[in-house]
Amino acid sequence: MRGKPASTSCHPQVERLHFLVRWLRSPGLAVHLAGCFLFVTLATVFVDIFERNGAGGNLIWVANGLLLAYLLLAPRWRWPVYLLTGFLALAFGSIFIHEPWRMSLLYSVLDIAEVLLAALLLRRRSAELPRFTNIPYLCRFIGFAVLAAPIAVGLIYAWIMAAGTHTPVLEGFLEWAGPDGLGIAVITPTFVAIFQSDFSDLRRWRQGWPYLALTAAVAVASFSQDRIPLGILIYPLLVVIALRVDLSCAALAMLLVAITGSCYNVRGEGPFIAANSTLLVGPSILLQLHVAAGIFILYSISVVQERKKATERRLQEIASLHKLVTENSRDAIVLINFSGEGNYISAAAESMTGWSREELLAMNGLELLHPEDQSNAVALMSNLHSGVEGGVIEARLRKRSGEFLWVEANLRLVRDPVTGVPTGILKIVRDINERKATEQKLHEIVALHKLVTENSRDIIILADFNGRRSYVSAAAESMGGWTREELLEQGSFGLVHPEDLAKAEAAVNELRSGAEGTMIECRAQKKNGEYLWVEANLHIVRDPATGAPSGILNILRDINERKQAEQKLQEAYSVVEALAVTDALTGLANRRRFDQYIAGEWRRGIRDGKPLSMLLIDADFFKSYNDAYGHLRGDSCLRQIAESCQDVVARPGDLVARFGGEEFAIVLPNTSKEGAVQVANEVCLALRGRQLPHNGNLPGIVTISVGCATMVPQFEKHVHDLIEMADQALYRAKKNGRNQVCGSNPMKIYEDGEQTFTTMESGSSKKA
Ligand code: GH3
Ligand code: MG
Ligand code: MG
Repeated sequence: MRGKPASTSCHPQVERLHFLVRWLRSPGLAVHLAGCFLFVTLATVFVDIFERNGAGGNLIWVANGLLLAYLLLAPRWRWPVYLLTGFLALAFGSIFIHEPWRMSLLYSVLDIAEVLLAALLLRRRSAELPRFTNIPYLCRFIGFAVLAAPIAVGLIYAWIMAAGTHTPVLEGFLEWAGPDGLGIAVITPTFVAIFQSDFSDLRRWRQGWPYLALTAAVAVASFSQDRIPLGILIYPLLVVIALRVDLSCAALAMLLVAITGSCYNVRGEGPFIAANSTLLVGPSILLQLHVAAGIFILYSISVVQERKKATERRLQEIASLHKLVTENSRDAIVLINFSGEGNYISAAAESMTGWSREELLAMNGLELLHPEDQSNAVALMSNLHSGVEGGVIEARLRKRSGEFLWVEANLRLVRDPVTGVPTGILKIVRDINERKATEQKLHEIVALHKLVTENSRDIIILADFNGRRSYVSAAAESMGGWTREELLEQGSFGLVHPEDLAKAEAAVNELRSGAEGTMIECRAQKKNGEYLWVEANLHIVRDPATGAPSGILNILRDINERKQAEQKLQEAYSVVEALAVTDALTGLANRRRFDQYIAGEWRRGIRDGKPLSMLLIDADFFKSYNDAYGHLRGDSCLRQIAESCQDVVARPGDLVARFGGEEFAIVLPNTSKEGAVQVANEVCLALRGRQLPHNGNLPGIVTISVGCATMVPQFEKHVHDLIEMADQALYRAKKNGRNQVCGSNPMKIYEDGEQTFTTMESGSSKKA
């Protein structure tokens, strides 16, 4: 059987000693190592008790499970010192129980090998801590530490024993692997749980010790007799301890049961000894099974509890996340049941409305709404009651201050996640006051814009660059008699007067080539076919987003009245202008007009090189005419002379003007000397034809004297020279006896009936 070596003389190297000393200095490590040494030694000695009593063989090898617990909890780099401590404790224990030293050495080496193998297989990563409540870890623990390591080392032990003492291999194997596997299965999780629990927590000890005492009592009661199978009470008790206290306490209780059971087995008492006679398996195997069943129950409970804890943790996480979201959302979140009572109201509801949660919970949701919005809300609620999944309304919410706040409320049915039955309504309420204000402003602007465009007397037309119209304002109908629809269908230039078409097209082209705006006046056709003067203000319309030109805004103004007024003004102006150049008495051009005209003709003559002639006409003895007949008849006579002149002058370029007083002038452009004399004679004849009596004049009728002058205008001369020349000729005509035509050069004699015109030396013609 497994005993311990009597002594082990160890000579560690100096370096290793230094290493150990360094770790031993750590107080935590020293305590752990001392505990490790003590426990392993006790475990070794404890087993010996069974050995000596020989009651059914070794039950459970505690030491390896204990050492493995230390290794699993310690950092990997501390393993050597724990393994050394374990080795020394095993050796010391063996010395204590007087084990032959060869066997002690063999046992100690194999034990250390088994523990190291189990620890290496189990501890994949350095930082991994044992988690017996985790199913994959538990499986690995059972596979590697409970089964693989004891089986492997058990085979070696069996082989050595078979070779040395001819012990049957199976017997040797079972002798090693059974107690070691069970020891690791029971002791490692128990001590891991005990080491990991907080020993300083007195409350737990206070809570745990009655259960431990009860367990001990039940264990003693069940193992001390064999008539009543009280042992089965252990299992529910373990379950209660695991659930009420914790796993480490339950593991400790199980250890107590194992120790108690072992003690009775060793003393040859109890139900397992009694059963030994009727069962095939020995009492130690029965106790092992008993303990293994308890450990299995504890593992199961711990796994279930761990899952429950994990679920609770997850739920807590979800709950706290949910709280974080709902409490920090800017939207108010409200959960109500179907009777309208609030179950939950988020913090945002308070800040949004000013009401406290308590106040909000006490109020019916409808009370808070603006009276005009209540019907919408009632309709939505009844929809939800009838099974509609959700809906959105916009409504005004009464704040605590009495103001109303525009909100968008998104209402959803809340269903029981298991049964799917609606349990309440979730409201997500969003403050949309700002959005509403913006919308309101926009509406106002649109309405104002409409008011302006629809009431403007100007026609507002919106068209694209191809002339397709998209908008025509109301004024269009009052201006041209067209309907809006008719105008929308019209192209840009459809109604423009043909004479203004070029102007309109030029304006549009100007905009196309980059101008922001332009203005034209043109005539537009009315429905009745007449034309209307309009002023068209054309502006580029730009896409507000891109700024690219998107069309033309045309603001048409009716300027017909203005145009008519302008026309009248123009006419009036023309009249005034005419008056300004007309002689009031005779209706002929006045002196001003004469001066302008002859100056113009003079310039033209310079350019053309054509002769320019003029006649200066003066009534003979007119002062005496006035004296004899009075001024009024004098005026009338002057008009007769003017008419006589007008009658003779035929060419459009000729101009008859009143030169001043009873003097007249005739401008004859492009007319030779001879032509001028001919006109002069014709004027004399025309006047004579009128036979106006004039007693103060020798012929007895009104006569005139005419001075003719002809020049080819030249740049170096002046028009005054021509007038001067005509004046001198007139002077000569007067001097020569009046009633004649005089030129600057000799002239022909014209004969007309009884009248004879003579060419004078001085160049005048005289009426005979
Ligand atoms: P003559 O020319 O032959 O030498 O003699 P005259 O009597 O015509 O002399 P003069 O040319 O000096 O006289 C011009 C007169 O014409 C003076 C004035 O009584 C008269 N007269 C000038 N203008 C008007 C006018 O507008 N109406 C009338 N009734 N008489 C005018
Ligand atoms: Mg005169
Ligand atoms: Mg005169």
